[in-house]
Amino acid sequence: EAEGAYHYTVAEDVAGLLRPRSRFSHKGTFGHACLIGGSEGKMGAVVMSARASLRSGCGLLTAVVPQIGHPILQSTVPEAMLSVDSGKLQLEEFSNNGNFQAFGVGIGMGKGESTVRGFSKWMQDLKSQARIILDADALNILSEHADLLKFLPRQTILTPHPKELQRLIGEWSDDYEKIEMAKTFARAHGVILLIKGAHTAIIDEDGSCYFNSTGNPGMATGGSGDVLTGIICSLLAQGYVPLEAAKLGVFIHGLTADLAKEKFGEISMLPTDLIDFLPMAFEKLK
Ligand code: AMP
Ligand code: MG
Repeated sequence: EAEGAYHYTVAEDVAGLLRPRSRFSHKGTFGHACLIGGSEGKMGAVVMSARASLRSGCGLLTAVVPQIGHPILQSTVPEAMLSVDSGKLQLEEFSNNGNFQAFGVGIGMGKGESTVRGFSKWMQDLKSQARIILDADALNILSEHADLLKFLPRQTILTPHPKELQRLIGEWSDDYEKIEMAKTFARAHGVILLIKGAHTAIIDEDGSCYFNSTGNPGMATGGSGDVLTGIICSLLAQGYVPLEAAKLGVFIHGLTADLAKEKFGEISMLPTDLIDFLPMAFEKLK
């Protein structure tokens, strides 16, 4: 496959990636995912991410949340374990050395002073082989603290929407320049850039670019991105390599929206509906 080539991801490209579950598998087989995020008024982001992760097959899920999130998560996502900070999210009791196969960071996180401090420390303590997806305020913090970029493990997945991308890589004049600037960024930092929108583009470190074929404007509602972060974090925890997790995750996410559209239409469908259609989307892809 040529370096820097353009691809268009359709069902046949990702169906083969999906792994069947062995008869003798157990929860340890499917990895322990860790989601870090949440702040007052934005706990819904973590709830949606967590439910999407669990519906995407990870074996165990821990959410690291501020105090206010404790009763919310425990009552809405009983399958999730929690690491709770006193007050705001600051990753105080939390150690990276836990046995997590993947981290999804930034959903509803906010950029409070103690959160930025906790996140920076967490970044600096990361092992080079850690599997990570960064979204939302984790990306905004990176944009404001470019010195942290050097701590990103290879193949970390970054999932900016257009505004977050602009903060991260700067202003572009047209779509062609946007992709070129994204390629330069991905190469310079050894990351996978997932540019969200209609036909989300996944840009690999080597400049390869994968445009997604699923999804519709019904997804343009706050919360859709949080669902995607949960899906991809779950796939990373299960051992899918980052590029596969990104391609499969984006495709499945869009497919849930195409299924939700048949039932609710583009106007009324909600991000929580996407989660509800994950089972059907995975079945359809098998
Ligand atoms: P966020 O802005 O973080 O909530 O992410 C929005 C999600 O919805 C991303 O996965 C986008 O790719 C998706 N999305 C938003 N608008 C569209 C659209 N018009 N067509 C397809 N997907 C969309
Ligand atoms: Mg978002």
